[in-house]
Amino acid sequence: MNHQLQPAVSEQIQEQIESVQHASEHWTPQRALTWAFETFGNSVAISSAFGAEGMVLIDMASRVRKDFRLFTIDTEFLFPETYNLMDRIEEKYGIAIEKVYSVLSPEEQERTHGEALWTRDPDRCCNLRKVEPLRRKLSELSAWITSIRRDQTSVRSSAHRIEWDAKFGLVKINPMVDWTSKQVWRYIHEHDVPYNALHNQDYPSIGCTHCTRAVRPGEDPRAGRWPGFAKTECGLHIIEPLPASATTVASKAAKFGN
Ligand code: SF4
Repeated sequence: MNHQLQPAVSEQIQEQIESVQHASEHWTPQRALTWAFETFGNSVAISSAFGAEGMVLIDMASRVRKDFRLFTIDTEFLFPETYNLMDRIEEKYGIAIEKVYSVLSPEEQERTHGEALWTRDPDRCCNLRKVEPLRRKLSELSAWITSIRRDQTSVRSSAHRIEWDAKFGLVKINPMVDWTSKQVWRYIHEHDVPYNALHNQDYPSIGCTHCTRAVRPGEDPRAGRWPGFAKTECGLHIIEPLPASATTVASKAAKFGN
C-alpha cells in the first residue's frame, strides 16, 4: 500500500513542519525517535547502511520501540563484513531487516549497461542499485529516519533534525544530525554496540566493494568512497527545496502538531 504523503505540500503543512523543525533542533536523538514512532507508527522506518552512526541509531531505537522497522538497500555489492553485521543486528535486536534490491541483478545490469558500470558511470550505477530501490521503498512510507550527520559532507551540512524530503515526497527525520564522530564512537563503546569490522581496518565510511577503499592517515573520512571521482554522495541525501506552489494537503500530514 502506498502510504506516502502527496507530493505537493500546503503552506499550512510547511509551517507545521517548520514549527516542529525549529523545536526539534534542541531534541536528543532519542526524543526525535520517540516523536517519529508516535507520529507515524508503522509508516516510519529507519534506513541504514550500518555505518557507525547507523549502529548507534539502531541501538537507540531498540530502547525506544522493540519492533521498529529497519530497511537497507542491498546493492548486492556489499562487503562480507557488512552482511555479517546484518546477521548480528537481527540476532541482537530481534528484528528482521527489510532488504531492498535493484530490479536488475548484477548480471542483468552487466548485460544491459556493460561491464563494471561503476568504473564508467557511478551515478548511473548508484541510481540503478540505490536510488530507484530507495524510491520504491519510500513509496510505502510516510516518513523515514536516517543517521546522517551535518559534518559528513557539504550536502549534509544544511540538514535539519526533521525536514520535508522534497526529493522523495515524505518526512525525513535525522535524529543524529548534530552529533560528531567522537560522540558516535563514545556511545558505541559505552553501550557495547556491534559495528562493522572494517572500521578497525581504516574504513571510516563503507559502501560497495567496488567503490570503497581504506583511507590513508590524514585523509578525509569519506576519501575512500568513489576514489578517483568527484562524487561524494550516492544521491539518497541530496536536499531539494520545498515546492514553491503547494496546493494539495495530504491527510496524513495532519498528524503534525506535536
Ligand atoms: S557505490 Fe559503486 S557499485 Fe555501489 S551502486 Fe554506487 S556506483 Fe554502483
